[in-house]
Amino acid sequence: MISFFDLTFKDFQDYAVDEMKASKFLASQAFDWVYRKKNFEIDSWLNVSKKNRELLKARFHFNLPEIIWFGESKDGTRKFLLRMGDNESIECVVIPAKERRTLCLSSQVGCAIGCTFCHTGTQGLTRNLKTSEIVGQYMKVSLWLEERNLRPISNMVYMGQGEPLHNYEKVKKSAELFLEPKGLGIGQRRITLSTSGLVPKMEQLFEFPPVNIAISLHSAKNDVRSELMPINKVYNLDRLFNAIKKIPLKASRRITYEYILIKDLNDSKEDLDALVTLLNRKESKVNIIPFNEYPDSKFKRPSDETILWFNESLNERGLTSTIRISKGDDILAACGQLKSEYEKKNLWHSNKQAEIESLKGIQIFR
Ligand code: SF4
Repeated sequence: MISFFDLTFKDFQDYAVDEMKASKFLASQAFDWVYRKKNFEIDSWLNVSKKNRELLKARFHFNLPEIIWFGESKDGTRKFLLRMGDNESIECVVIPAKERRTLCLSSQVGCAIGCTFCHTGTQGLTRNLKTSEIVGQYMKVSLWLEERNLRPISNMVYMGQGEPLHNYEKVKKSAELFLEPKGLGIGQRRITLSTSGLVPKMEQLFEFPPVNIAISLHSAKNDVRSELMPINKVYNLDRLFNAIKKIPLKASRRITYEYILIKDLNDSKEDLDALVTLLNRKESKVNIIPFNEYPDSKFKRPSDETILWFNESLNERGLTSTIRISKGDDILAACGQLKSEYEKKNLWHSNKQAEIESLKGIQIFR
């Protein structure tokens, strides 16, 4: 059986013509039922011929990851732990901000990049997600929100567990499915791909759907960036910025640079000067993210004064910057934290509510 969520519109058209001897139009009908009407009961697709319905039923499934855990933070952040068919788990988070509800998607189980500030980085890479598992996060959480009459997802960012460009083909297909006008039809400006700087794959971004791009920069000094992100030892700042120059950007679009601000590591005047020199008023925006401490993390969050000073200084020197306040601290919302805690307590197959509730600060809703 094939997961319906693994096929782009074009893939499905080709499948209909080549494997089912049906017309291409079947793709429009099926995408309308699945992605717009969220109806997975093929028997009820009465505008599709009985023969094609039988063929589809025999060949496709609509399995989605299972929500095994979720929590809601005081600030409205909702975090989900999802289990896939092979029992591996991933996290995704819905982050509220004014009118927006942004879904932070995972692209891999674990991550091979090993950033030293990141909890997922300590888990290593288990495997890439399939397209259906990436799109499945959106479908599952959307349905969950809809069932509860909660505000729907408006934006998406590939910034959960994993390096999205390390799983380039599957992530690209998922972006095509999100953007597909005959299906979900999410606007280009509402989707952001965030990368740690996997240069060879960044050089292929000209063929990636035209979504927003964010770069995890975190330091404008090679020695500090290498300490935070081992990938910098292979693709240093020169190589990174050469690759960035080649990213096709439509007029008035900017690249966002993520900068996790860490006490006594990248928050000094010297760090600020290096950042201003590197970005040199290019069409860019800096997102300052004060470090979100987690148990046993070796880094610390700077003081509020330092965070404000860093932001204001960037603005004064001609760079656009904002401070992104960490959300969901009380529900282990730092990338990879929930999964680790869950596994540490060996709750995978446990039904003991008391044990589950012992996880720090999480409210149980199921
Ligand atoms: S920050 Fe992103 S790229 Fe780095 S280890 Fe964590 S998940 Fe991987």
